[in-house]
Amino acid sequence: MDSAAARPAPELASKLAAVEDRIAHACRIAGRPRAEVTLIAISKTHPADAIAPLIAAGQRVFGENRVQEAEGKWPALRERYDGIALHLVGRLQSNKADEAVALFDAIHSLDRPRLVTALARAMDRAGRRIPCFVQVNIGEEPQKGGCAIAGLSALLEQARAADLPLAGLMCVPPQEIEPAPFFALLDKLARDHGLPGRSMGMSGDFETAIMLGATHVRIGTALFGARGG
Ligand SMILES: *Cc1c(COP(=O)(O)O)cnc(C)c1O
Repeated sequence: MDSAAARPAPELASKLAAVEDRIAHACRIAGRPRAEVTLIAISKTHPADAIAPLIAAGQRVFGENRVQEAEGKWPALRERYDGIALHLVGRLQSNKADEAVALFDAIHSLDRPRLVTALARAMDRAGRRIPCFVQVNIGEEPQKGGCAIAGLSALLEQARAADLPLAGLMCVPPQEIEPAPFFALLDKLARDHGLPGRSMGMSGDFETAIMLGATHVRIGTALFGARGG
């Protein structure tokens, strides 16, 4: 059975193709294999009906920023489609660690000691260890999530001691200023700490991020259009 929503809507398929072209182009310029960069389609705020056509068009890796919202959308989509990987890219409260470990395949927002403890316990309980990116507050912005650069070494040490699988570092640079220096800094921090993953780059700056070493780009608007609200 093929409902209308399950067909690759031409508009979404062409947006996906355009983003794929831009990723491939940036990889070519940077001399990097396309396979080094994972496209995470950020589907936050979009209902399941809007997401299904993108899955039908071939996209399999998605990101959400709220546990509860993701719990409402993804179990049903996963019943319809195989091979979905779901990444959490938003702030995680430690009392939601069990739900997050049950639902997500990667977490990009590990940013404080209490969350290391909560995630380690949740993974023990679930008998499932999922890769974590440590989010760095790369612009040292007081209102933003992410661990301070000065606290990164200690947090990584704690995460390693707790046996959390560390995939790499993640950042959201300050808005309205050139992001390249922040991407370069995240890349350097990842290298200094021997971590392979760099989760950086969104709709407005993913080519720059790829040229500076991004392994995971998180793209919402360029695929789904502007979010309401
Ligand atoms: C919403 C969001 C994105 C996607 O942003 P776009 O500009 O819509 O591509 C990426 N990363 C995080 C952490 C987000 O919250």
